[in-house]
Amino acid sequence: MRELEAEHRRAGKQRQTQLELLFDSMVEGVLLLDAHSRVELANPAFISLFGLSGDIRGKTIMEALRLHELAEIVEQLDKGEEVLGRELRLALPQEKWLRINGASMANESGQRQGAILVFHDLTRLKQLESARKEFVANVSHELRTPLSLIKGYCETLLDGAKDQPEVASKFLGTIDRNAERLKVLLEDLLTVSELESGRIKMDLQAVPLRSTVEKVLGDHQAKAANRGIRLENRVRDQVVRADTGRLEQVLGNLVDNAVKYGRESGNVSVEAAEGERGMVEVCVRDDGPGIPPDALERVFERFYRVDKARSREQGGTGLGLSIVKHIIQSHQGRVWAKSELGKGAAFYFTLPAA
Ligand code: ADP
Repeated sequence: MRELEAEHRRAGKQRQTQLELLFDSMVEGVLLLDAHSRVELANPAFISLFGLSGDIRGKTIMEALRLHELAEIVEQLDKGEEVLGRELRLALPQEKWLRINGASMANESGQRQGAILVFHDLTRLKQLESARKEFVANVSHELRTPLSLIKGYCETLLDGAKDQPEVASKFLGTIDRNAERLKVLLEDLLTVSELESGRIKMDLQAVPLRSTVEKVLGDHQAKAANRGIRLENRVRDQVVRADTGRLEQVLGNLVDNAVKYGRESGNVSVEAAEGERGMVEVCVRDDGPGIPPDALERVFERFYRVDKARSREQGGTGLGLSIVKHIIQSHQGRVWAKSELGKGAAFYFTLPAA
């Protein structure tokens, strides 16, 4: 008889250990309340979701968390109601979004025993959703400006301006410029979407840096000459492991920016040095007006521009540096900018040495 009891106890203990292990390893936060709606168990995920430090066992929700919305949910469970997919936004210490499911528990005679609540962290999902909405809003805004200019000038031409050859060719020039802007924007958008889909594979090869830089500088020679800017290749014999086309795109975007935003009659140079842990560090430098400190990180965000008017006037899409960042990160490299206002800007990136 005694052996049977001991066996029962052992089995009970084992079940409890299993349950505890399960709660402890869950990604979702779990909160178990007793018949008086006091905390009986809170798993580690719950503690970290709410950023709690002390022991909350034996406390009510209001005592433990001071969250009215959650206390209301517990009241609902007290009445025996179920809670399904309720969303809760926490403002502090940082914004968090949670989805809550809860059920009250009763024994065989229907007497309330407590409740169990499960918390699912929706923060990442919400952030992605809001980034997507912002992206769509930005794209629509970027498309609207050139499109409405094209439409406006076409209407003016049809209304009679087409019969005045000088006016007509000026308007057609504007239409052409804006159509070009739309084309460049769509190309950049396609690149961003390709890179973000993660579908494209980088064709990694040993690429000699000096000749690649030479080619890219050659492509920008005419544009630089227009502004009296001197381009200089200071790269020696480093060889990196990269996708040639993508590396050209990175260098092209950085050199293009340096020529666009650099000083008239200034200098743009590309240099490379041994970096840390088998990486090569490349730098594209100009001696233009530079970038304010608070914008140094933001310039890599999609559509962020320090000076909107200047970027538009230069035919910028606001996507160049976010494309650079994506490509470099796909090569396990890093990219950053340094600048002192009035003393130029320097864009650095690292790539694995071949
Ligand atoms: P854009 O198409 O506007 O050039 P980018 O993503 O390439 O877009 O760059 C974002 C912004 O960063 C630019 O609008 C500009 O304000 C700033 N920027 C980039 N490169 C430089 C530079 N070399 N000097 C000064 N500002 C720069």
